Amino acid sequence: MSTAKKDPQAIQKQLDAIKEAILKAKVTPELAATATQLVFGDGNPAADIVFIGEAPGKNEDLQGKPFVGAAGKFLNEMLQTIGLERKDVYITNIVKYRPPNNRDPLPEEKKAFLPYLQAQLEAMQPKLVVTLGRHSMNCFLPDLQISKIHGEPKRIRISMKKSDEVLTIVILPLFHPAAALYNGGMRQTLIDDFVAIPDILQKIN
Ligand code: URA
Repeated sequence: MSTAKKDPQAIQKQLDAIKEAILKAKVTPELAATATQLVFGDGNPAADIVFIGEAPGKNEDLQGKPFVGAAGKFLNEMLQTIGLERKDVYITNIVKYRPPNNRDPLPEEKKAFLPYLQAQLEAMQPKLVVTLGRHSMNCFLPDLQISKIHGEPKRIRISMKKSDEVLTIVILPLFHPAAALYNGGMRQTLIDDFVAIPDILQKIN
């Protein structure tokens, strides 16, 4: 794992190019047609931790930023409990346009955005990727069940597209804040898993 200091501006430039590439390639044109805008990502591009959700909802679609509705408020509260703010982390989604009526993203929609998500990770090279919900987890750990492995960090290797190198990242699968919001048991499990993040990060370091 590289310990070299990252250059946020250089990474942001790469992220801007990936965003442009999505627009130019007209990824998921049906979703783009019904959405207000592309919701690409938010936060510190040089962050150690990247959170990956599912797809934008109504508020995200209107504001152009991920996790700004009720689930986002809960995510912000959990970040505060571990001494972090949104500007300390980077937040994105697999699918970057709002699916109509907030339906689950379709397998082909997730597949269409996966190369761009991978390019984002290659550009940012975070120490820890926290997946929120099963859709996001299954992009990296396709055969596992979130109910069984939530809170357990898993190390994965991704072949980089831009070079011959292999990127090693640690994935922490967590329940989705929206699913946990109104489910007492799941909410407490998510909070318990979340507060372990600083320890997990320290072990990676
Ligand atoms: N749920 C998600 O998965 N992503 C968002 O950006 C908002 C809610």
